[in-house]
Amino acid sequence: MNPLQEYLSLVEIEDFEARYAKDITDENYFGYPLASILDAEKRLISKTDKSIAYFSMEYGLAPSIYHSFHTIEPLRSQNKFTQHGVFSNMRAMDNYFALRIDKRLDLPIYSGGLGVLAGDTLKSAADLGLSFVGIGILWNSGYFKQNFWFQDGQRPQEMYWDPKTYPGLIPLKNRIIIPLKNETIHVRLWKYYAYSYDQKSVVPLVLLDTNLPGNSEFARKLTGQLYRSDDEVWKLYQRLILGMGGIRALAELGYSSDVYHLNEGHAALAFVERARGFSEAQINDLKEHFAYTCHTPVSAGHDRFTKKTVSSILNPEDFRLLEKFGTDFDNHGLVNLTLFALNTCVKVNAVAAKHGQVMRHQFPSYAPRIQSITNGVHTYTWLSRSFSNLFKKYESEIGPWENDPSSLKNVEKLKNNHDFRRDLWLAHQENKHHLCFLLRTWQMKEDVLTVSWARRIAAYKRPSLILQDVHRLVDIARRHGGLQIILAGKAHPKDNLAETQINEILSAIDSLDKDRELIRVMMLENYDTFFGKLLTSSVDIWLNNPLPPFEASGTSGMKAILNGVLQMTTVDGWVVEASERPLGWFFGYRHEGGQIGNEWDLRLKEDSSNLYEVLEQAAQLYCRTNQKGALDVQSPWIDKMIECIVQSAYFNTQRMVEEYRGKIWQPLLSINKS
Ligand SMILES: *Cc1c(COP(=O)(O)O)cnc(C)c1O
Repeated sequence: MNPLQEYLSLVEIEDFEARYAKDITDENYFGYPLASILDAEKRLISKTDKSIAYFSMEYGLAPSIYHSFHTIEPLRSQNKFTQHGVFSNMRAMDNYFALRIDKRLDLPIYSGGLGVLAGDTLKSAADLGLSFVGIGILWNSGYFKQNFWFQDGQRPQEMYWDPKTYPGLIPLKNRIIIPLKNETIHVRLWKYYAYSYDQKSVVPLVLLDTNLPGNSEFARKLTGQLYRSDDEVWKLYQRLILGMGGIRALAELGYSSDVYHLNEGHAALAFVERARGFSEAQINDLKEHFAYTCHTPVSAGHDRFTKKTVSSILNPEDFRLLEKFGTDFDNHGLVNLTLFALNTCVKVNAVAAKHGQVMRHQFPSYAPRIQSITNGVHTYTWLSRSFSNLFKKYESEIGPWENDPSSLKNVEKLKNNHDFRRDLWLAHQENKHHLCFLLRTWQMKEDVLTVSWARRIAAYKRPSLILQDVHRLVDIARRHGGLQIILAGKAHPKDNLAETQINEILSAIDSLDKDRELIRVMMLENYDTFFGKLLTSSVDIWLNNPLPPFEASGTSGMKAILNGVLQMTTVDGWVVEASERPLGWFFGYRHEGGQIGNEWDLRLKEDSSNLYEVLEQAAQLYCRTNQKGALDVQSPWIDKMIECIVQSAYFNTQRMVEEYRGKIWQPLLSINKS
């Protein structure tokens, strides 16, 4: 059998001849080696090699910036995202111009950090050659499309894209059903592949889709919008598709997974599916196959349902299992998927050391079992071209960072190397030059201190902190050579407080109209992984100001340190583990002790005032370092840049996945072998 025939015998593609025959050949899968996929598929169906099945509601694979699959036909316009609106304190520009970048739409099946982490995890699992499969959902209308309207804030719109022509994404002939109390849902499977950095291995991602003619109108829309939450019925259906559908998909594909890794309670119904018909003893054994990672201490991140809703949708036996392991006696007897996961997964972890402490306070009776494994980012995805060139130039000192990101600690050795310090600054300026060029309509300047805050908009992340006192901000800009601020982020359409924060930001920006010569502030529409990389690699300071202790980890700062971008941050999440290191400026409220506190008491006044103090220090140092283009090579600013890169030797998903392997997956695989 030739390779293509072999592939098509393992993976049955719908409409292969009509649609995909040009892009999938004996050698190539959309421009990448088919041989790597064949290896992975064969390992996943072998009975000897047990694999890990990784469940996540969302995946941010970022193909616009990492391994963009090629197609013979040009990319369809529905799968491009070329125009981003801007809301700035140069309103006249915003009305006439949008930011134009010719790029593909990043596979729109994620909303934020959880998705990006899941995507980076698949890539690092591929880099490490693990037998691994991701399970997720094909969101037919993505998350949503964001528009800003003057004095009206964010207007969410439905997003349209075309899965059938999205490069690298293929529909399978396989179908599964999910049997519920009063209906049966039909699900189609799709596949996508995450390649390792060197393209030698891959991890498949299986995506579930209910948009099929055999389903009711309601069921067809279930895999429409990610995190649609009109009511708890929608939420429950989306979760049972992921959990129950995911297990059935693995069986349908013949994958011999032996460890089920659940991200958030979202995927908890996987256990229900596997336990159906089991005795108590069998259920206890089954727990040894499940691992659960909790990603947030914030209340909205924990799914709860009334028993009435659960029993009206699930079969009685499934309902009883959820009730048995998931009843939240402290919370009106609701079914709580977090508790369900804690009770059914032997391995449980938080996503940073600090989050581990917080989670142990939140769930004291589970405390002894709660481990922590600090998040990371996929180095190869988030490292900018100019920095990759820099590391290549100094390869003899740094070593092979591509397959071993821990080598970046060797950048420390270059601390006193005058040429390296200069080259490091130039690499940064190259990125900043590129950013200013993209934003040239708004006259962004490459020798003015530039700060960015960009992430999912949620109250505890305090997106408008830096705009609390615009007079103070203008004053800092006046005294220290000007200031540029770039903001971006989407608020969940049902999150009223977050939408209010967007309004606050837009009116603060508007009020700075007359100060535009001193300070430039802009908010970009439709923050995505492309902008995530652009901003984290090209501004001077990455601002991160969540209210402690509510940021479980945070990862955008890790992308920034990798690219030598200094941190201005509250001490929360991953930052706690690096807070003794000179990465930039730490400020604001610090959380200590056993009480979690109130996530709605945002401490805006005290913490913004603290922020302005450190911003002023940073602006002074920036002016001394970069005097209108003339560089002080000895500046402590450059010491801090070096320290940032050194820390990225640790805060990456390769180290993280190796830790999961050692602390979670291998122990489960060996329990189950004996
Ligand atoms: C990295 C990233 C995130 C996560 O950022 P946090 O700082 O962890 O909130 C969210 N969205 C996008 C598009 C990203 O690239």
